[in-house]
Amino acid sequence: MIPYGRQDIDENDVAAVVAVLGSDFLTQGPAVGAFEAAIAARVGARHAIACNSATSGLHAAYAALGVGPGDRVWTSPITFVATANAARMLGADVGFVDIDPQTLNMDVEDLRRRLETAKADGSLPKVVAPVHFTGRPCDMADIAALAKEYGFRIVEDAAHAIGATEPDGTPTGACRYSDIAVFSFHPVKIITSGEGGMNVTNDDDLADRMRMFVSHGITRDPARMRADSEGGWYYEQLSLGFNYRMTDIHAALGQSQLGRIDGFLAARRAHVRAYDAALKDLPLIRPALDRIDGSAWHLYAVQVDPAVASRRDVFDKLRAAGIWVQVHYIPVHLQPYYRDLGFAPGDFPHAEAYYANAVSLPLFAKLTDDERGYVVETLSGILA
Ligand SMILES: *Cc1c(COP(=O)(O)O)cnc(C)c1O
Repeated sequence: MIPYGRQDIDENDVAAVVAVLGSDFLTQGPAVGAFEAAIAARVGARHAIACNSATSGLHAAYAALGVGPGDRVWTSPITFVATANAARMLGADVGFVDIDPQTLNMDVEDLRRRLETAKADGSLPKVVAPVHFTGRPCDMADIAALAKEYGFRIVEDAAHAIGATEPDGTPTGACRYSDIAVFSFHPVKIITSGEGGMNVTNDDDLADRMRMFVSHGITRDPARMRADSEGGWYYEQLSLGFNYRMTDIHAALGQSQLGRIDGFLAARRAHVRAYDAALKDLPLIRPALDRIDGSAWHLYAVQVDPAVASRRDVFDKLRAAGIWVQVHYIPVHLQPYYRDLGFAPGDFPHAEAYYANAVSLPLFAKLTDDERGYVVETLSGILA
């Protein structure tokens, strides 16, 4: 079975985890802080706050920006449900912006139109959460310009995108055009900590708020306390929070993986180039390669020409051949939970058209050339 994505764990990764297991701390020891510092340095952000998933990271990010009942958070329909759900968890209303069929990311022109309408009827969003789908960064400079004009804040859902760069070479996560970026370290993503996520920001206050949110709203920093410390045991709970902390076991794996990220990115890009060349004569829409070195390439998603074959048929035949393809994603607004909130088919036509024919082919660092060749050969046979 060839999955669409999987982790690459080597002996050093195992040794890093084993070292923590034999140490004094399994949680809240030195490994989490070290991993946070390593991510901050890698992406060029002032602060990094580890959490136990990107889902909790998104929750913490929106909460830090003050999202609550009556507020609106807008994102792309082509994302994992967590991007939208985290806003619903805070009681906010969720809105969507259609995708650009070329980049598959949030369409800046559609965003501009919706903002214009929302301004007229007093329903502007508090936060816009662009999703760097497949690892390709959104047009962040343009979105940031709209943020200035319309007064919203930006949380980048960078779950796919550690290792990506802006067109000017700035790493995704430097938060040059955003308030906060959120990374995921789920095993199918670029690097893994098992489960895990990391929020990065350049804003001291947002960093403090997120740090408290992921640990019960508690501070041990005397500078933030209302009262004088009563002793070495003393802490204060200043707000509500969760236990969304990363463990040292996970952080050690994440940091070891971070040391290997350039190899992972290079392997993914090499597979993408090879797929692109091998599939170019098939009746498929292939991902745009104009930003090949700027994308982290979490996914390689093709769109089947429905005049030649149905996506369903292609999907079933690939799976029957042992190729465990996936579809990313069912548009979030079409999930029953969101339909119950008033969304309906036809609301976001580009997202729905992409979804109708999309299949994500296997793409991960450990994928072999032979495995990739088998995928190409099988797909060619199905479409012949
Ligand atoms: C994976 C993913 C998430 C959630 O990440 P977890 O770490 O699994 O919680 C959020 N958004 C997108 C786009 C993702 O792909």
